[in-house]
Amino acid sequence: MEKKNLDWENMGFSYMQTDKRYVANYKDGKWDDGALTDDANIVMNECAGVLQYAQTVFEGLKAYTTEDGHIVTFRPDLNASRMVDSAKRLEMPPFPEDRFVDAVEQVVKANAAYVPPYGSGATLYIRPYMFGINPVIGVKPADEYQFRIFTTPVGPYFKGGAKPITICVSDFDRAAPHGTGHIKAGLNYAMSLHAIVTAHANGFDENMYLDSATRTKVEETGGANFIFVTKDNKIVTPHSNTILPSITRRSIMYVAEHYLGLEVEERDVYFDEVKDFAECGLCGTAAVISPVGKIVNHGEEICMPSGMEKMGPTTQKLYDTLTGIQMGHIEAPEGWIKVIE
Ligand SMILES: *Cc1c(COP(=O)(O)O)cnc(C)c1O
Repeated sequence: MEKKNLDWENMGFSYMQTDKRYVANYKDGKWDDGALTDDANIVMNECAGVLQYAQTVFEGLKAYTTEDGHIVTFRPDLNASRMVDSAKRLEMPPFPEDRFVDAVEQVVKANAAYVPPYGSGATLYIRPYMFGINPVIGVKPADEYQFRIFTTPVGPYFKGGAKPITICVSDFDRAAPHGTGHIKAGLNYAMSLHAIVTAHANGFDENMYLDSATRTKVEETGGANFIFVTKDNKIVTPHSNTILPSITRRSIMYVAEHYLGLEVEERDVYFDEVKDFAECGLCGTAAVISPVGKIVNHGEEICMPSGMEKMGPTTQKLYDTLTGIQMGHIEAPEGWIKVIE
């Protein structure tokens, strides 16, 4: 298979159309067989449920080339099961988990020419999603749905090394108690756009959201979970029912405990104690871990002891170990790496 002639090292994170995508339709109470198609466009009725009441959920994962030349994905079964949870919460028919993993494999194989080579830092981003497609005007769930997966090559998240970012405590809330913060729904992102545009306008890279009930506890950013490192080298991550269970964060907690022998805690993290941590990072598929150097709360600055030049030493170890597992330099726990070809 010949690779496309793309400038892998200098790509950004934007949509580039690739050759094939997967489509399955749900109608009359069941999913059809699904198939790959060349058609990147969707034709739907003007009154489609997704357009009126935002009935849509999504996932995000990556395919990449390991050092020994295999194309692999990382824990796609967890994306499959998380999408089932998301679908159920929005009254959508879950797409079967085994079929999800199979569909990911089909799309990646069909677009193998777009999977960036090992060492480029670039990856093939995979976007599964589903939405209500039949006309819905009275407020109720759609009867018909479409599940799709497209892929798009994306560049290295950090060009020239991971520089720590500055984030601000947001005046906006991300998720209500008993709301939809724990599922991967487009609606959570729609309402976060104003908050992120505001943060950027004020010179910050990201928002730190607090729990909306008490505004005393750390939740997450718009699209990544927090990990903190204490001064005695414990790994702490916020426990909350209103944050999205990041697969990267869950993997990092496992790596911290089982590969690095660190103590890990998932618990309430009060904003008041953030100033006492040694390191802070954001976890998600895109960057794996982005180091946070500074957290600003209405002009009051918390400067992490790890500074603004590089990742803290423990964050770096977590990053190196997890990316080492992903790239095949370090033996992975059973079932984490799915070899596509
Ligand atoms: C997708 C997402 C994450 C990161 O999850 P990963 O599975 O690690 O990619 C974190 N927070 C939110 C709100 C998300 O939507």
